[in-house]
Amino acid sequence: MDTKYIFFTGGVVSSVGKGVTAAAIGRLLKERGFAVAVQKLDPYINVDPGTMSPYQHGEVYVLDDGSETDLDLGHYERFIDVSLNRVCNVTTGQVYAEVISKERRGDYLGGTIQVIPHITNEIKRRIGLVAKTTGAEIVLVEIGGTVGDIESLPFLEALRQMRSDLGRDRTLNIHVTWLPYIGATDELKTKPTQHSVRELRSIGISPDVIIARSDHPVEDDLREKMALFCDVERRAVIPLVTASVLYEVPLMLERFGLAEFLLERLKLEPRRSPDWRDWERLVAEVQRPKPKVSVALVGKYVELHDAYFSVREAIEHAALALGLEVEINWVHSSELEKDRGWEVVRNADGILVPGGFGSRGIEGKIKAIHYARENKVPYLGLCLGMQLMVVEFARHLLGSDEPNSTEFDRSTSHPVIDLMPDQRSIADMGGTMRLGLYPCQLQPGSRAAQAYGVPQVQERHRHRFELNNAYRDLLGKGGMVFSGISPDGRLVEIAELADHPFMVATQFHPEFLSRPNRPHPLFLGFLDAVRHRSCQAIEAVVAEEVLH
Ligand code: GLN
Repeated sequence: MDTKYIFFTGGVVSSVGKGVTAAAIGRLLKERGFAVAVQKLDPYINVDPGTMSPYQHGEVYVLDDGSETDLDLGHYERFIDVSLNRVCNVTTGQVYAEVISKERRGDYLGGTIQVIPHITNEIKRRIGLVAKTTGAEIVLVEIGGTVGDIESLPFLEALRQMRSDLGRDRTLNIHVTWLPYIGATDELKTKPTQHSVRELRSIGISPDVIIARSDHPVEDDLREKMALFCDVERRAVIPLVTASVLYEVPLMLERFGLAEFLLERLKLEPRRSPDWRDWERLVAEVQRPKPKVSVALVGKYVELHDAYFSVREAIEHAALALGLEVEINWVHSSELEKDRGWEVVRNADGILVPGGFGSRGIEGKIKAIHYARENKVPYLGLCLGMQLMVVEFARHLLGSDEPNSTEFDRSTSHPVIDLMPDQRSIADMGGTMRLGLYPCQLQPGSRAAQAYGVPQVQERHRHRFELNNAYRDLLGKGGMVFSGISPDGRLVEIAELADHPFMVATQFHPEFLSRPNRPHPLFLGFLDAVRHRSCQAIEAVVAEEVLH
């Protein structure tokens, strides 16, 4: 079958959930038996988001092959349950780097290199690689940003050309817009959508579908109006009201018959009928009242919850599977250093320290870990959260504040966490960490092995530093169990404490492999311990009341 393409552009404002919409539409198609992949085209000049601050960009999502990508790739993988690869996230930086290196090699034989056709050809080549490398029959391509941005013009031009190259049966344009609400008159406005469609038309792209995002219900007459003014079929104007549960989005789009419309336009017959039972169960489970537990998430970028998107999702997946409602309480680690915010940590049934870089707030995280260890509060550490658990334990064993990671103290006399040997000679920051999927052998009988229930696993990594093997003996004798080791025995991948209900931490990022219907075993193990602690706390309160 010739590959079919669905292009997603955004209008009016950014952050309207274009990524989730594309992911949900991917699911609609997968449910009908098609192999689907999604690609994100990001108009910024960085080669990848790996070097960007989470404040700029949100989380950096890591794929199996070690590419550092936009967090939308996380939506795609979670909604569609596919494993994507590095061609699925293209940036302007990558496109120009490729074209310029070809020019330096002399590949263009004396030609003048221009945005059209050289840059647009490179964009089209990269779009073509998705089907070749993933086997997808339908490729969804999302353009970052909003129509009208200078940066995205070459991408839009490439899409315009692809429609004339491939024809209308193989390409489809979906424009995702926003309907602002005017409180004074209690109405939703379609004018920005009309303008945005006009802008899109002026660069030669006509939308086949408009997805109108809104915080308020959209009446039929508004759909009618948008269809008329934007020259789109009425059934192809789909209102999408902000969902309280992310996983409801595919179900909402399904109700509007969007999949039938897309397949009809792409001249495809569904191969099977969709089965939404799992998704309906998931949404019902979110809405059902459940026992509440709380987890303190001690991080550095806590003002921006997007910086920990996959961690939040992984907690949610595991919570739903266990029939719990988890309240995540965000704690700024540098506040803990100033003796603020401790009540949140003290009231939590579990503590989680996620990944991170740089020295700000490190001591606050170590204090929170100290608290978790001493008070036997369930703890899950992810990447930096493992490294700091090791630092805290070494400080405890040696009775000194000296142990540290050389990331934060280059001259520490106890470098319990140190640069990996193959990292020492690296000068470039971009794309040079230990990245992507690596195998990990589990120690039988450990908490990690119990949680996974298999002898070996593969997990996604993104780090430069690691546990210094010179300290394995000391830590091991003190009660730390190295429950996950690389098969060659060189790298500690999981550490846990024997004398603690659940104090487990990983050098890798388990959150990237959690899926709505396949929660991650370590998050399940953690929340199970959290639930246990919360029940004990309730029993203690009840016992206290009975006594008095
Ligand atoms: N900064 C640490 C390292 O580079 C941890 C990285 C992370 O948490 N992703 O090893």
